Amino acid sequence: MTAISFSTNTEFDRLTPRAWLEAILVPAIVLDEAGILLAHNTHVEDLLQHHAAPTLGKAIEGPFRIMADRVRRVAGLETRAWFEQPIGNAWYRIAAYPLRARPDGPVMQAIIATDITKQKHAEFEIRESEGQLEEATRIAQLGTYKSIWDTGAAHWSPNMYIIHGLTPGSPLTGRDRYGELVHPDDRHLYERYAAIQSEGKALNGAEYRIVRKDGSMRWLRLDARVLFDADGQSYATFGTCQDITEGKQREQELRNLLRRNAILYEALDASPIGVAVVTTDSPRPEVFYVNAEFVRLTGYKASSLTKRSIGALIPGDDASQWDMVLEALHTSGGGAFELTCARRDGTTFLGQIEVAPVRDHPGRDATVFVLNLRDITLDRQRSAALLQSQKMEALGQLSGGVAHEINNLLQPVLALSDLGRDIADKDPVKVRKYFEVISSSARKARDIVRQVLTFARRDTPEVAAYPIAGLVRDALRLLQSGLPPGIKLVEHIDAGAVEAVVNPTQVSQVVLNLVKNAADALDGEGDVTVELTCVDIDAANAAALTVSPGQWIKLRIADDGEGMDSYTLSRVFEPFFTTKVAGKGTGLGLSVVYSIVNGWGGALKMESEVDKGTTAMIYIPVVATP
Ligand code: ADP
Ligand code: MG
Repeated sequence: MTAISFSTNTEFDRLTPRAWLEAILVPAIVLDEAGILLAHNTHVEDLLQHHAAPTLGKAIEGPFRIMADRVRRVAGLETRAWFEQPIGNAWYRIAAYPLRARPDGPVMQAIIATDITKQKHAEFEIRESEGQLEEATRIAQLGTYKSIWDTGAAHWSPNMYIIHGLTPGSPLTGRDRYGELVHPDDRHLYERYAAIQSEGKALNGAEYRIVRKDGSMRWLRLDARVLFDADGQSYATFGTCQDITEGKQREQELRNLLRRNAILYEALDASPIGVAVVTTDSPRPEVFYVNAEFVRLTGYKASSLTKRSIGALIPGDDASQWDMVLEALHTSGGGAFELTCARRDGTTFLGQIEVAPVRDHPGRDATVFVLNLRDITLDRQRSAALLQSQKMEALGQLSGGVAHEINNLLQPVLALSDLGRDIADKDPVKVRKYFEVISSSARKARDIVRQVLTFARRDTPEVAAYPIAGLVRDALRLLQSGLPPGIKLVEHIDAGAVEAVVNPTQVSQVVLNLVKNAADALDGEGDVTVELTCVDIDAANAAALTVSPGQWIKLRIADDGEGMDSYTLSRVFEPFFTTKVAGKGTGLGLSVVYSIVNGWGGALKMESEVDKGTTAMIYIPVVATP
């Protein structure tokens, strides 16, 4: 564009520059080619009111300091030029127009300032909201795209590229190339989504996977709408594409978690033991969960137990039993109990209950407990029967010895009563002596018979504190005569008068079973050692024996017979486990010994080696050392 030329012979020619500048309603100045201010209008003064007033004939640097450089850059140009400039609180568009007074005259500059503050603010606002939108879509991992149907052109937002692992603006060549990005397993899906869009239909929450060039897999979600032009003609698809990989992963984790939970619940329901989870945050322990077996055992539904609290299992008014359980729940120590529980229908069963705290933080008091419930009514009956049958077996073994003992005692009774009858008149002193022997023998026989009767009795054995040494000696004496003649008992009974809380019949049952096994292992020929001593068990040994450290009575019964291999040794305490021929062994001996010793609060250990022999050690708690 060339400079505007004024014709010299017009009215306009006679106007002073100042006069025509005043006709312009915005600030305007005229500069000569050297940048000297030739004229300005009053609007310039308004604009520069806080600055030094413009001075005609002076360079523009002074008053227009802030924009002088830029003015100079546009001044002297043969073309129109403009720039935007903030002055005070306002924005101006400063435009320079080349101006020639005469066609061959020098180029002056008319400089006009237009207030563009409003546009500028609007522009800022738009830029800001665009920036925020961009940021929001970036945060939401949301890309947008537009496909123009006519041309097949696709416009992607920068985020769209980022989501696909591409450099923003890199060329896309049609759907074929996009298809390459789609996960092979999801290509059929994507084909369908593309078809729906090309039919001009909306797409809602269409999900598929892509594989980025770096090999990473992402889940995407597409939502698309059809765009219509002013005539109501659909012409394009506008869509959003969101990277939902994280959400998908969380969804998958949640699904795995739910599956794990479901499996755990299934497993708990398959358990043959009743399981209840109880929380104690509230004043009354509350049932949080019960498994199927718990429901079956108690007859209460899970929901009604939850409402009722675990105390519903108390039979009648007897709440005292549950005190132990509740105590364990509160002190968070856990414990095991046997107690009579009530079913919903009022019937009762003997329950074995174990309470264990569930700690989510080590060291912190538990408020959640797991409670295992088992119906041991039948077990109890069975083991009572088992005990009885073993007793009868032991009784059978004893009877030989008993018969022998009683026979021995009957000898003097018979002989002396015959003798006494003959000399009754002649020697009353002698006869009196005979009677004493007879009565003492008969009394001894009565004691033996009594023992056998106690032994055979069915009721639960009463325990009391006894000097253990005497009981062991009695037992050995009683069983001695029942042993094969080749078996010699080697006794070391050194426990003095130490007492233990036991039942005498059970002591003889234990001794009898162990000595009998030893005699069997020796095949009727050899020594069986029976030792009774007091021992101090230190912490290290106590742990191995599963007893507490301190004073114990130790009963040791050893043989150097055939011994056992480790497999046999591992099974000896099982009821009915025997290696003996039918009629010789029942396999009950050691299991009975085990349960008796357990009942005393003692421990039992067995060591054996094939062809070397076997040692049984029994540890019995000491109650008193008089
Ligand atoms: P039983 O004597 O009726 O077989 P027990 O319970 O008393 O039943 O013993 C189980 C098994 O343990 C025996 O059959 C035997 O194999 C083994 N056993 C027990 N004591 C000894 C021992 N002192 N020496 C070798 N084996 C033994
Ligand atoms: Mg036996």
